[in-house]
Amino acid sequence: MPETIFSKIIRREIPADILYEDQFCLGFRDANPQAPTHVLIIPKEPISNLNSVEGENNELLGHLLLIGKKIAKEENIDKTGYRIVINTGPDGGQTVDHLHLHLIGGTHLGWPPFKN
Ligand code: AMP
Repeated sequence: MPETIFSKIIRREIPADILYEDQFCLGFRDANPQAPTHVLIIPKEPISNLNSVEGENNELLGHLLLIGKKIAKEENIDKTGYRIVINTGPDGGQTVDHLHLHLIGGTHLGWPPFKN
């Protein structure tokens, strides 16, 4: 997988507002937040997107979701609600080719997500 800006964040080569880290993943605030809470949760393993996820990543994917839930609670948006999104590919709006979950909340979120 080609190097991305997220690999540099994992290696602390560029700064990020990191909220959570363990041996498998990192959670940090999005540099261009779309809501009062906008956090990215990424695996440390270089996986480019959901299409590249294989069966052996089942536990990792579950872990990323549970960390999203944990951060939502820490950000105090668990009761008011939030959304976890994985943009995949060009039509999905993916701009960084390193798998990431967007945790978004702190305001009422519009639905459906597509532009008119
Ligand atoms: P996506 O468009 O789903 O690929 O999401 C990529 C996200 O990464 C966007 O929401 C960007 O604002 C965010 N982003 C890009 N560079 C950085 C960075 N250096 N630190 C934090 N967030 C970033």
